[in-house]
Amino acid sequence: TRRKLAAGNWKMNGLRTALAEIEALRDAFPDPGCDVLICPPATLLAQSALAAAGSSIRLGGQDCHVAASGAHTGDISAAMLSDSGATHVILGHSERRADHGESSALVARKTEAAWAAGLTAIICVGETEAERDAGRTLDIVTTQVIESVPDGAIALTTVVAYEPVWAIGTGRTPTNAEIEEVHTAIRGALASRFSTDVAEGIRILYGGSVKPGNAAEIFALRDVDGGLVGGASLKASDFAGIIRAAE
Ligand code: 13P
Repeated sequence: TRRKLAAGNWKMNGLRTALAEIEALRDAFPDPGCDVLICPPATLLAQSALAAAGSSIRLGGQDCHVAASGAHTGDISAAMLSDSGATHVILGHSERRADHGESSALVARKTEAAWAAGLTAIICVGETEAERDAGRTLDIVTTQVIESVPDGAIALTTVVAYEPVWAIGTGRTPTNAEIEEVHTAIRGALASRFSTDVAEGIRILYGGSVKPGNAAEIFALRDVDGGLVGGASLKASDFAGIIRAAE
């Protein structure tokens, strides 16, 4: 059975004072009953690793370049993330697809770069509100999965996060039935792309306005293996409620 994953995406938030949140989580969860991951801004990764030392809290980046090193001013390689203490990296978040024009093909190349550096990739997919209104959600999301997840994906190296764009930071979420429908479709797409065994092992997170108050209900849904949490991951007191819901 799949162990649940509570993942926090701090996005472009967090100065050094925010390290206290990681210390608080470390102290509150000496032996969590789920996997716990924090993805702080890259500027805080190394210090976050020190703050989390001795705990089972894992750290991740929020993006990486396709190349291992080179003339790419301002970019960060997967090896650099790993060297700073990351074990995971979020790839293809809708904010990067929108702000930086990232295609699913590019996300697949970044995933291969992440794997080469020993990182687990958290590959994000999700429809816009217009796409949902047009009845295209399952087509959009399964196509993103097929195109963004490279050959060779296995449960150890790959997590998929379903984040409806219209649910991010809005306080709105799909209904439980809508979430299950998409997650089941994603697992089906993984099964046809890889195998039933591989698809059964890969964790599929839900993201978009997950809060302490709705996390338990969402995490109990079929094919939901945890959450990718933005705003409610910034404060240890909020994220603690989400970790408990995943335990
Ligand atoms: P919110 O939890 O703030 O809606 O953000 C979700 C998200 O984009 C996580 O990657």
